[in-house]
Amino acid sequence: MRIELRSDTFTRPTTEMLHAMMHAEVGDDVFGEDPSVNLLEQKVAALFGKEAALYCPTGTMSNQVAIKVHTQPGDEVICEQQAHVYIYEGGGIAFHSGSQVKTVPGKQGRITAEQVVGAINPDDIHRARTSLVCLENTSNRGGGACYNWEDIVAIRQVCQMNGLRLHLDGARLFNALVATGQTASQYGEVFDSISICLNKGLGCPIGSVLTGSAEFIKKARRVRKVFGGGMRQAGYMAAAGIYALDHHINRLADDHAHAKSIATALAKKDFTGEIMPVETNILIFEVKGRFTAQTLADTLRHYDIHCMAISPTQIRMVTHLDVSAAMIEKLLSVIDGL
Ligand SMILES: *Cc1c(COP(=O)(O)O)cnc(C)c1O
Repeated sequence: MRIELRSDTFTRPTTEMLHAMMHAEVGDDVFGEDPSVNLLEQKVAALFGKEAALYCPTGTMSNQVAIKVHTQPGDEVICEQQAHVYIYEGGGIAFHSGSQVKTVPGKQGRITAEQVVGAINPDDIHRARTSLVCLENTSNRGGGACYNWEDIVAIRQVCQMNGLRLHLDGARLFNALVATGQTASQYGEVFDSISICLNKGLGCPIGSVLTGSAEFIKKARRVRKVFGGGMRQAGYMAAAGIYALDHHINRLADDHAHAKSIATALAKKDFTGEIMPVETNILIFEVKGRFTAQTLADTLRHYDIHCMAISPTQIRMVTHLDVSAAMIEKLLSVIDGL
């Protein structure tokens, strides 16, 4: 029994999801004629109360398309210092948009309205024009931490007062919604654009969706084509997304409970240092004493348990729909015995 905790991107489509994919109605999406892609886009737009949406092959493309539409070359984008758009997208903001980034240090990946105010450049020809703020929820490097709603609203107000756009990297937004009880339509109201991933905890093999106003998505569709992301019978993949939105959201609560139970078991061990608060499906903890992060990961691998040493002293485990309750039980007993 292989227990794969390195990432929630390791999920494979369920039998039911594969069935939905096999029986998808498809057409040429570059002509706007793939009914499954159109349905997925309508579904996501409706969920967030937005006018339109755009299916993209990856979350990286969806974020980068949004940033390209929201900025002009020479602009500055504000984000947290460990934001995915900044550290994990290959320098895409510079490469695609010719914009630079001003990072601010957050608390578990979350930034505040005061920090945004402090990061906005004055209207001065010496300075880059600040045009966009990107938030990430849940925060990947922040151990799956969620924003408080009031903090997001405060950032929105700062953006409004300063003429800035607000984009959400919501790769794991549904984890945040399930954990906090916040709603998609709340998010749709305050963000100019939202990118969600279907290929993480929702269990699809591929895909992200970008949502926003009709005007924004019209521009985004052009940029997606320029990036090489205009796909043809993408409905086979979009059908997986439709299935996931209908069946895989509420079950994220199980993943969160699993991550918390792992944290509880680890807390009893002498080799466990600080455990980042577990709010969703990501668990990051410090390793000390008898093990280094790498030797603990190696030891677990002997039990066919796979996790990642993300620094010499830190391990990350991510729960998802291919980590069953039985697997968690086995993992807990292995941890007990270490
Ligand atoms: C995974 C992820 C993305 C996008 O990833 P792709 O692999 O390109 O789909 C974007 N932001 C965050 C926070 C992520 O975790």
